[in-house]
Amino acid sequence: MSPDTGQDIRICPWKYGKRWVYSITYDEALADLHRFAVPLHEEFAIPGHVELLVGQMGEIRETGNSSYNGMRHMNAQELRDLLARGWGVGNHSWSHQVITPEMVEEEIGRAKQVLEEAIGEPIIFYCSPGDNTNMADHVLAACRSYGYLGAMSLTDALNRPEDELFWINRTALHEQYYAPFFSAYDPFRNIRQAQAVQGWLIDYCHCPLETAIHPNKDCTQAQLRQRFETVLAEGGDDVWCAVPEEALSYHLMRRTARIETVGGADGERCYKIGLTGLPEQVPDRTLSFEMTVPAAWCRDPRVDVDGQVLVAELVRPGVLRVTCAVTDGTVIRVGQR
Ligand SMILES: [Zn+2]
Repeated sequence: MSPDTGQDIRICPWKYGKRWVYSITYDEALADLHRFAVPLHEEFAIPGHVELLVGQMGEIRETGNSSYNGMRHMNAQELRDLLARGWGVGNHSWSHQVITPEMVEEEIGRAKQVLEEAIGEPIIFYCSPGDNTNMADHVLAACRSYGYLGAMSLTDALNRPEDELFWINRTALHEQYYAPFFSAYDPFRNIRQAQAVQGWLIDYCHCPLETAIHPNKDCTQAQLRQRFETVLAEGGDDVWCAVPEEALSYHLMRRTARIETVGGADGERCYKIGLTGLPEQVPDRTLSFEMTVPAAWCRDPRVDVDGQVLVAELVRPGVLRVTCAVTDGTVIRVGQR
């Protein structure tokens, strides 16, 4: 790569130069997550994410013929406790019914507002209840107009760096799949593919206990442990275990940012980052950059971001990496001391 083309800096697919991303979501936000799931997350230092049925916050579940009826949804204080542990919270609708056009105000709009007031944080994720029926066009249009940044489906696939985010795929982490495609539990599911395509893998289950409440809707605590061990063993230093809010923020920052080469002083290169069109709700505004530089600069590199000197990491010969907060108009200068 020529050092003079302006192509000698690029944004990493994922934060810190990680190769792929792992997140996990628990639909319904049941209080019994504290029995096995939350302690496992603490043990492995992996953040989780709960999708709350907002109309039954803190209440005993009573919806249709749900396998989870009789269990309790988390209340505001329990959700705030999860936020303090680095977790995130999404809206899993108000009523868990099929959302008609007449219902979007309550299911998408009011549910978001009530949840935000309860936990004191903006809600940027909608998570489809039931099945992908609730990913209908009128629902996703409402998600956009009410200020969400992403919508989670029940499609078993990865999310790629180039994908749009109003159809986020999730991997069902279940003991077995529904007929006619029966299956056995696979702790490796989608990991190899995530490595190959630099994907964002998001697991989905409900509330792992000693045995699965429903084999088509959950895994067991032992299977959840096995999944975490497999993600970390296969991922090594290449996997970024991130709360969905942070991964989505990075994804949007990367898609939005434009890099312009501007005139620097002698012996340095200078770039300006533009973020025109970035949604104002994006909570985390960080990017990781890799820069191809002359070998001599690698001995004692100097990277200055908006006047602040950062320590650059040597990724491989002639390639430096930095991770930094970025605003619209941020200037990065690279050289040697
Ligand atoms: Zn649900």
